[in-house]
Amino acid sequence: MVDKVLAQVRVGPSELELREFDMPDVADDCALMRVEVAGICGTDVKMYKEQLKGAPIIMGHENIGILEKAGSEFLKRTGLKIGDRIFPEHYTSCGQCEHCHSGQYRHCIGTDWRFNPKGIRLGYTAIDNDHSPLLGGLSQYIYLPANAVVHKVPDGLDPELAGVVTPMANGIEWALFDCNVGYDTSVLIQGPGQQGLSQVVACKQAGASMIIVTGTAKDSRRLEIAKELGADVVIDVTAEDPLEKILEATNGRGVDVALDCTAGAGTKAILLGIEALKRKCGTLLIQGEMADFPNFPVGKVTVKAITIKSARGHSYKACELALKQLASKRFPLEKITTHRFALKDADVAIKAVGGAEDAIHVSIMPWM
Ligand SMILES: [Zn+2]
Ligand SMILES: [Zn+2]
Repeated sequence: MVDKVLAQVRVGPSELELREFDMPDVADDCALMRVEVAGICGTDVKMYKEQLKGAPIIMGHENIGILEKAGSEFLKRTGLKIGDRIFPEHYTSCGQCEHCHSGQYRHCIGTDWRFNPKGIRLGYTAIDNDHSPLLGGLSQYIYLPANAVVHKVPDGLDPELAGVVTPMANGIEWALFDCNVGYDTSVLIQGPGQQGLSQVVACKQAGASMIIVTGTAKDSRRLEIAKELGADVVIDVTAEDPLEKILEATNGRGVDVALDCTAGAGTKAILLGIEALKRKCGTLLIQGEMADFPNFPVGKVTVKAITIKSARGHSYKACELALKQLASKRFPLEKITTHRFALKDADVAIKAVGGAEDAIHVSIMPWM
């Protein structure tokens, strides 16, 4: 084992610094993971550009690696062994609140970096916290604090593919748990990035009978992959009238569920979702990309009796199901793991997400 740890530290807007940290001692109830893969997602792209609110941060919240060092309490609590391949959720758990007791750690105040300056969330927490500076995946090692929530990666699942667990867990959580997609459901998925494509797989596996995916002119390869993963209809919204095509595909009825997985589309995707939902009692899943929504059509939403759900991460169960889904090799998901970068190229990697036309799932491999 090396005695220094290399990590990329975000020191300002779109600015990383490769720094060396001491190899930490591991407390009895904590552990150290050798990072194999740190996935980059749209949230990273957005956060990367922002001003720091406090001390610098080691980003990277979609991490897969090997349990290399652990205290005896940690091993006892998790049932893991040294050498196991693991997926630590970026959420941590206080273990005491109503949310933690129901397996919904993501709602725990202890991991809420937005409202709690002491909140611990891997990839979001500043290096001057009380645990260890190494709380992000853009690093050779990541420190797993006492309240880390850790899943074992199934045997035979390649680490890069296992890195898709986070968008896949979100797919299961949002489409299946939040919006009740199941047998014979018709679904509109807007945005064919890793998040939208993971929703396609979750919906297909659950039995959806009509899966419609939208994208723009730059998404032609992504829309092709959507079809290969099980989408019935794909629409380039810059070339065709999406509402017309959705109604045509659903015999004029509209869809049961509309999921927004777009980035930078403004209010357009939500407005299309509202229009595309069936006459009564559809479900709309939204993301909070913009702070305000001028002229929100609240009249139409209530007349159509639409239920609005907020995209808010994943539960413990969704992660376990996502790992099983990936290990089943039932869908050609290796088509979405398109790009891998060394730690020194983290800046290029972050910019590749949402940049390069063929980039879908981008991984940083700190030991490459
Ligand atoms: Zn993410
Ligand atoms: Zn809690």
